Amino acid sequence: MYSANPHRYDTMVYNHLGNSGLQLSAIGLGLWHNFGSVDPYDNQRAIVRQAFDLGITYFDLANNYGPVPGSAERNFGHILATDLKPYRDEIVVASKAGYEMWDGPYGNWGSRKSIIASANQSLTRLGLDYVDIFYSHRPDPNTDVYETAQALDSLVRQGKALYVGISNYSGAQTAAIIDCFKDMHTPFVIHQPRYNMFNRQIESDLFPVLKREHKAAVGFSSLCQGLLTDKYLNGIPDNSRAAKSTSPFLQPKQVKQTLKTVRALNEVAESRGQTLAEMALAWNLREPELACVLVGASRPEQLLDNVKALNHLDFTADELAEIDNILND
Ligand code: NDP
Repeated sequence: MYSANPHRYDTMVYNHLGNSGLQLSAIGLGLWHNFGSVDPYDNQRAIVRQAFDLGITYFDLANNYGPVPGSAERNFGHILATDLKPYRDEIVVASKAGYEMWDGPYGNWGSRKSIIASANQSLTRLGLDYVDIFYSHRPDPNTDVYETAQALDSLVRQGKALYVGISNYSGAQTAAIIDCFKDMHTPFVIHQPRYNMFNRQIESDLFPVLKREHKAAVGFSSLCQGLLTDKYLNGIPDNSRAAKSTSPFLQPKQVKQTLKTVRALNEVAESRGQTLAEMALAWNLREPELACVLVGASRPEQLLDNVKALNHLDFTADELAEIDNILND
């Protein structure tokens, strides 16, 4: 029988999502990897418990997370039922639709047909009546943005989602869908973009739109899938994402290409008394539009490291300039 750490709220930071009343833990747990049917269930359960015990309240899923697609929602639904049920009102569960999920013209993208069917499937797999946030996972170039917005709005009106979000939309696409949400009074609260030291394009494109609209972002791949940690400094460990055949997303060649930069960043982190993972997360959180940084974890100890980022969030101007120089080199 799981009993949550009574001190879980003592040190975690919670940030408002722009002008919304909803707050998220500054660090959220992403279940894209390590929660599929190919991954040991006991470890998944230990990671989720560790997250909640550390004050992490935001759990990020999508219809297709696995592998196999759908299995991360199913596994998390099981953990919810066995461990987190008494704490349902203390957590924010999010899911998404927009990438390929089932065969045929309706299992993908952003039509009303796809979004509503996918949300219903997600609720069944999660064993929930509603999710806290439901996202359009990516913009659909072949569907009118108003249709996608209206599908999300319908989920709220049907009581299947409390809030809605978008992910992977450019600044201009974000501005366009925000206009639709305003028109319908949809509780749109969050954008989920990729953001880390190696992926900064959104600083000039998206952040100004979010600032203007008083909206927040939750960043994904905050550690660039593990590249922005000390794990690859001395080669590629067997149990790492870059070595796993089930993960085609991080290639050994990327490890090689970034090693010199990562070593230099690691020295800055050491001079700040942090691990590189801690510094990379703190650096992401220096952006005022970023309310939360998502991290993936393959074991509970990684979360213990990652939350320590919150112990040292400030950067001097010299440190920021040094990091910029390393990244621009
Ligand atoms: P990260 O950049 O956080 O990478 C996670 C990986 O980094 C872990 O699996 C682990 O790798 C390694 N790691 C984490 N902490 C440490 C540490 N302290 N020390 C050493 N290594 C560490 O995230 P993801 O790319 O997994 O993305 C996070 C979440 O963002 C996803 O789970 C998902 O929820 C969301 N996301 C959303 C997308 C979207 O389109 N909206 C796209 C991608 C992600 P290892 O397995 O090698 O131990």
